[in-house]
Amino acid sequence: MVLTATVLPLSLTWVNAARDNRQQVEDRLTVLRRVHELLVDAETGQRGYVITGKDDFLQPYHAALTALPNELRTLDLRYGQNSPAEKQLVAALLKNTELRLQGLAKVVELRQNGGFGAAEPVVTSGQGKHHMDEIRRISGELGAIEARELADSDAELRAKNWFATAFSVASTLLSIGLLGYLATMMARTIRRGEQSAAQANRTSEALESGMANLRRHNDEMSVLSEMSRLLQTEMTPAEALEVTRLYCSRLMPGTQGTIYLYRNSEDLLELAGSWGAVHAAAPVLEPKACWGLRRGQAHHCSGASDLRCAHAAPATSSPGQFELCLPLTAYGEVLGLLNVQAGAVGDSQAMSLEQAAAMAQTISEQVALTLSNAKLRQVLRDQSIKDPLTGLFNRRYMEETLTRELARAQRNGTSVGLVVADLDHFKKINDTHGHPAGDAVLLAAARHMADMTRASDVACRYGGEEFVMILTDCNQEDAMLRAQQICDSLRQLAISASGTSVKVTASFGVAASPADGESAAVLFQAADRAVYEAKRSGRDRVVAATETPGQIIPH
Ligand code: GH3
Ligand code: MG
Ligand code: MG
Repeated sequence: MVLTATVLPLSLTWVNAARDNRQQVEDRLTVLRRVHELLVDAETGQRGYVITGKDDFLQPYHAALTALPNELRTLDLRYGQNSPAEKQLVAALLKNTELRLQGLAKVVELRQNGGFGAAEPVVTSGQGKHHMDEIRRISGELGAIEARELADSDAELRAKNWFATAFSVASTLLSIGLLGYLATMMARTIRRGEQSAAQANRTSEALESGMANLRRHNDEMSVLSEMSRLLQTEMTPAEALEVTRLYCSRLMPGTQGTIYLYRNSEDLLELAGSWGAVHAAAPVLEPKACWGLRRGQAHHCSGASDLRCAHAAPATSSPGQFELCLPLTAYGEVLGLLNVQAGAVGDSQAMSLEQAAAMAQTISEQVALTLSNAKLRQVLRDQSIKDPLTGLFNRRYMEETLTRELARAQRNGTSVGLVVADLDHFKKINDTHGHPAGDAVLLAAARHMADMTRASDVACRYGGEEFVMILTDCNQEDAMLRAQQICDSLRQLAISASGTSVKVTASFGVAASPADGESAAVLFQAADRAVYEAKRSGRDRVVAATETPGQIIPH
């Protein structure tokens, strides 16, 4: 484009230079022509004057003489820069002009002084003709040189014009080519920029989604570790199940599910908790109804073609629907079942099957461990406070509880009833039906006493065939009534033992605080005395401590 831009001023410079040159040539030719005309005028005036003798004819002669010096100076100046050959010709022209003018002046002088006769021989002799011919020849030669110069200058201008045109066309084509190339490059650069921007957008989106996943994962980890810490604290199985229920709904958003606990004695799973909108969860499950339990590992079904557990909800066509069954096992023992369901239509929060499976697996492992620990603690605790044969509390627990309940009753100004029962002629049952039958009678009598007391009361096996019932918030009168009810209903009981039906009765002694004693030992002795009295007075009856004399009974 710069080249194209330079063509115009360059062409103008060339044209101007050619025009100046032509003007100079024309100026030089004009001066030559003028000199020649003036010389002709001077010659014509001189000739007329010679012939007529009239001064009028000398007017052009004098005019030419006046103008010629100036024109000759101009001529000399105009050729000042020309070649030496031309300068030489001009010098010869000036010389011959001067000589010619001298010749003319001499003839005029002769005519003025000597008349026509004096001048006529000089004129007819043709003395000045030689100079005039020389002037014509030199003028012609100079004119021819100038014409050649003009022709050369025109040819050069034409050549330069052609070059300028060609140069202009070439540079324009080059500019168009360059502009096309630039446009292509720019389009490519813009395209690449757009591609880079799109790529950057995709990268940014991927990064954002990765960050969101990471944040979600971190949140999950933090909730999971919160649940884990919570489950490590000592708690009952019921509390562990409540924690699990709450954290399942937090850790597996968009899901619903159930937790079943395995009941060994009946080989059944019992519904122990649920989260989310669970519909029609079966209250009990047989282990064989669940593929997860049967195979002892996680089982899932998400479509109609998958193997479904008998307890699972029917398959639907909703996308993302799935059901997971994870057996809760610890130390090789099955403790229960974690069931997770998802696939509510339009639930954007719902987890994928893989995410839920991984999370449920982690949860189930921790919960199973906690349930196992809680169960173990429960067993150990039961072993220390319960009687293994009857399942009632043992003597140690009874003594601790009686002391505690008496203190509480004293604080609250209430009463504690204490019933001591001793099975009648139990040795004879053993002797007659055998020891296992004796055990069965002990168990039946214990259950009967537990059933006949309130949940807040404490039924214990004191030892052998002796039982104690602590009746909280119960005065002497109510304790007597309750003991009588137990005594009467026990008498009605037909206990099947070793293939026969066995009957049993018991003697009851009843004491109540604070009247019969405010300490555990004193109250117990009072009730025990009453038992002794009941035995003594015929057995199968209830005797109040108040009805017995206050002596210590030897055991
Ligand atoms: P009484 O009416 O005077 O109380 O007569 P009794 O036979 O019930 O009283 P005794 O103290 O003579 O006998 C108690 C028997 O209870 C003796 C013992 O073998 C039996 N016994 C104690 N513990 C158990 C037990 O765990 N299982 C069985 N089968 N028998 C037991
Ligand atoms: Mg006894
Ligand atoms: Mg007895």
